[in-house]
Amino acid sequence: MSEPNTMPMIFDVEKIREDFPILKREVNGKPLVYLDNAATSQKPQAVIDCIVDYYSNYNANIHRGVHTLSQEATDAYELARRKIQNHFNIKFAEEIIFTSGTTHGINIVSNGFASILKAGDEVLVSAMEHHSNIVPWQMLCKKTGATLKVIPMNEDGVLILSEYEKLLSTRTKLVFVNHVSNALGTINPIQQIIEKAHTAGAAVLIDGAQACSHIKADLQELDADFYVTSAHKMCGPTGIGILYGKKSWLEQLPPYQGGGEMIKEVTFEKTTYADLPHKFEAGTPNVAGGISFGAAIDYLNEIGFDAIKAYEDELLAYATEKLLEIDGLKIYGTAKDKTSVISFNLDGIHPYDVGTIVDKLGIAVRTGHHCAQPIMDFYNIPGTVRASFSFYNTKEEVDRLVSAVSKAQMMLS
Ligand SMILES: *Cc1c(COP(=O)(O)O)cnc(C)c1O
Repeated sequence: MSEPNTMPMIFDVEKIREDFPILKREVNGKPLVYLDNAATSQKPQAVIDCIVDYYSNYNANIHRGVHTLSQEATDAYELARRKIQNHFNIKFAEEIIFTSGTTHGINIVSNGFASILKAGDEVLVSAMEHHSNIVPWQMLCKKTGATLKVIPMNEDGVLILSEYEKLLSTRTKLVFVNHVSNALGTINPIQQIIEKAHTAGAAVLIDGAQACSHIKADLQELDADFYVTSAHKMCGPTGIGILYGKKSWLEQLPPYQGGGEMIKEVTFEKTTYADLPHKFEAGTPNVAGGISFGAAIDYLNEIGFDAIKAYEDELLAYATEKLLEIDGLKIYGTAKDKTSVISFNLDGIHPYDVGTIVDKLGIAVRTGHHCAQPIMDFYNIPGTVRASFSFYNTKEEVDRLVSAVSKAQMMLS
């Protein structure tokens, strides 16, 4: 997961901020401080330009046209697939299925396993999953009679691996864990989780939606069976993402949707399916999305994931220290291995009220359960205020957050 060949570079946050036009705007008369990066990231000019260029110059339907525009669009779309392949160190390009996002990718897999799982089989999900990595598996269990079991976590928001090992057995067929928790920021030890699952004969799906903007995952090294993510969390557009699946699995799973693009031959008696990846890519895809996902990956790699991680770690440490100086502020998610997400509450104050006041001061944070209600139930809270930092945030912005939260506390207590 490291990048041995990147040149050391000076991290110039002010220069990076110039790449993001939205960071110049004001909200409620104050300069925007955008701290909702765990929900979606902002887009650099390079990605915006890529979308405009596609629609301005070579918009066409792909894969079936002989005309020039169609060929240019197809080449650009397939080039993006190869950029994604390189980025995640994926063995075969056809192991990458373009999806509309993480949720779609998980549903392709859960739908496919409906024909594989049987009553008595077990699937394991972690206690800190996003609803999109819980609900499809519950639906699958209902259909097949398999049982869903939960890998517990401790007060720090760290999975208890000894309990995980006890849950694994020959009945375990699938394990689903996020690489990073969107509500707590915890980086899960997925390499270990995958190894242990494989020893028990189970396949693993990793939800990488929250990890992908912070960590460059090496999918051959990790040996995950499935890995899903969304472009919009990593500086790309909404409505596009990938499902990575090992070839052997993708060949085994039935298609999710029927339609154009995913067939070899159709008669009214019978249809044969297209080869990978097209078997899972029915209909006209999000061409602009795919191409600009590639541009987002180029953009992030130009900055470099080592530089991003080092800078975000520094922001996280600074923000954690400053926020904890506020009396009565409690942070949820105190794992040693964390990305730059801070979930917190002020004693006796509803998170929604804090979020509303800081928005008046131009600061965007998330409040609520963050699509992870079981985590909120674990801590017995209605929700949290979540500030999630990106490499384009600054220490000055952290200071503005801290002073806004202090102000909210004064107004609300
Ligand atoms: C955002 C997120 C999702 C859902 O992604 P979509 O783009 O909404 O499909 C799933 N899991 C985690 C951990 C996330 O952060």
